[in-house]
Amino acid sequence: MGCRGGGTARVVFEDVRVPKSNILGEVNGATAIFYPMMIPERLGTAAMTIGAARPALEIATDYTAKRKAFGTKIKNFQAVGFKVADAVNKLDTSRAMIYCTARAVDAGIDAKRARRMVSQAKKFVTEQCWDAVNLCMQVMGGIGYTDVYPIEKILRDLRLSMIWTGTSEIMNLIVQNEWYKERAQEKNSNIRNCEFDSVNAFAEDEKIYE
Ligand SMILES: Cc1cc2nc3c(=O)[nH]c(=O)nc-3n(C[C@H](O)[C@H](O)[C@H](O)COP(=O)(O)OP(=O)(O)OC[C@H]3O[C@@H](n4cnc5c(N)ncnc54)[C@H](O)[C@@H]3O)c2cc1C
Repeated sequence: MGCRGGGTARVVFEDVRVPKSNILGEVNGATAIFYPMMIPERLGTAAMTIGAARPALEIATDYTAKRKAFGTKIKNFQAVGFKVADAVNKLDTSRAMIYCTARAVDAGIDAKRARRMVSQAKKFVTEQCWDAVNLCMQVMGGIGYTDVYPIEKILRDLRLSMIWTGTSEIMNLIVQNEWYKERAQEKNSNIRNCEFDSVNAFAEDEKIYE
């Protein structure tokens, strides 16, 4: 569909024997290698998606500032201008999330927290960028769908980012797993329990869990 500059092929390993000298780390110790590798892989995918989406925003902004319908530039229709604004917001929030996550990783944050933050960033940023490009295509009307402008190519290329190096669903799976563990750890520490902020917080009979 997209990313046509790079070939894609299935790799099959059958009865492969790896010489001892070629073993990375320890036998059965792949997770220790895989998890750290996924930090630059997933964060890099998310970050480059912002760069991929940015030209679409630039093109859509310029186009809507020139194209006229019903006697006015279409950027003057809020239905158009608001979509461009939404796309700007999506790319800027994505950038902020990438910086925040990258700085946390660089600062040597706990590996599990890093795993959650990177997974969140991968899912959030790639989906926001996809939405942003989709909005850009929409405000360009029919011409945005053609190859007169490169938005259709950007859209095709960008779709992969929500699939490869771990799908959005798998990112959510990691976030969910790590978050519940983090919350359980928090509850064991001596922090304020927000549950007791409500007027009837001690109505234990009302708190039915089963
Ligand atoms: C163009 C391209 C290039 C690629 N390049 C590389 C590469 O260089 N190196 C590499 O290793 N791989 C590469 N891949 C593979 C890519 O990383 C995988 O396709 C991707 O991780 C999804 O795995 P899968 O295809 O096996 O999907 P599946 O695991 O079969 O998933 C199918 C669907 O089920 C969902 N799903 C699966 N398990 C769960 C679960 N537990 N909970 C909820 N939902 C679930 C998925 O989210 C997805 O929606 C590439 C793929 C493509 C398309």
